[in-house]
Amino acid sequence: MNHFSNKLIKWFEMNKRNLPWRNTDDPYLIWISEVMLQQTQAVTVIPYYERFIKALPTVYDLANVEDDTLYKLWEGLGYYSRAKNLKETALTIVEKYQGKIPSTYQDLIKLKGIGDYTASAILSIAFEKLTVAVDGNVLRVMSRYLGIKEDINLPETKNYIKLYLSDLIDHPTRSFTEGLIELGATLCSKTKPNCLGCPIKENCFAYNNSVTDLIPYKSKAKDKKEIIMQTFILKDLKGRLLLKRQTETLLNGLYLYPQVNSENLNYAIDELDSMGIQVLNIHKTKSYKHVFTHLVWHMDVHFGLCEVNSGEYVLVEEQSLHLYPMASAHKKIKK
Ligand code: SF4
Repeated sequence: MNHFSNKLIKWFEMNKRNLPWRNTDDPYLIWISEVMLQQTQAVTVIPYYERFIKALPTVYDLANVEDDTLYKLWEGLGYYSRAKNLKETALTIVEKYQGKIPSTYQDLIKLKGIGDYTASAILSIAFEKLTVAVDGNVLRVMSRYLGIKEDINLPETKNYIKLYLSDLIDHPTRSFTEGLIELGATLCSKTKPNCLGCPIKENCFAYNNSVTDLIPYKSKAKDKKEIIMQTFILKDLKGRLLLKRQTETLLNGLYLYPQVNSENLNYAIDELDSMGIQVLNIHKTKSYKHVFTHLVWHMDVHFGLCEVNSGEYVLVEEQSLHLYPMASAHKKIKK
């Protein structure tokens, strides 16, 4: 075992956090945890992961789950396309791979929602293959360690780090992969890394040159697109709330209150009218903001009464609202 790998693995074995997906080598469970961890911190993921695998303990359960149940289990994690892809991939695994998660990169990478990182992580963690998995944590650790001054979002930078690590990765690959990720998630944090406790500080460029605040280097991200919405929480004359199930990619399968992309309330009310919703009375409450990856919604929220003459909407008793997987952007309004 080389020096880097030896130090890293020893440190990891002594310091690793007790996370539930670390107590299994079931490829299905590793896959679920990796997808959940894609945009969310480990401590936040724990209760979602435990609830999910209790409800859907095998790939067959996931392949057969109702969409509403799946989205309900996912509610709060955001990026619902991940849940949709999980189910689609579970169906492929059942139909094409007899319910077994594939154990080669070529097969994994073809599956929906599994990119280079997730495929490599599954191979390395569940199948102990000599594969390097590079996520944001690993990029940060290695760009500091190597003193990389190029943008870490560039594919060339990532490839360079992958190549470098391919020479270093050692058995047990699982501890190597999880150790690097753990180092990035704990000691080598974005701001103020705790270098004194770091197992690889001896040869770390950023630590030895006091430039941990300059590396990793990232060029400025593009501004997010900002959209103003008129959002309506409307009840019909029987007191039922009006919701619509989304079919667009961004929030596919989730429920939203009716809303219109406009700064102008009168225009928005006319639009609702043309969709079969007649607003009877209305009052504005407050404005909310919701930030997506590339988009920001500014929502002017109005409460009111309406008459509905449209099959596109569902009418829901207020006490049953919790049964409907709501988009996070509107869930915060509900609260
Ligand atoms: S020494 Fe500091 S900057 Fe370098 S890898 Fe360790 S925690 Fe990160």
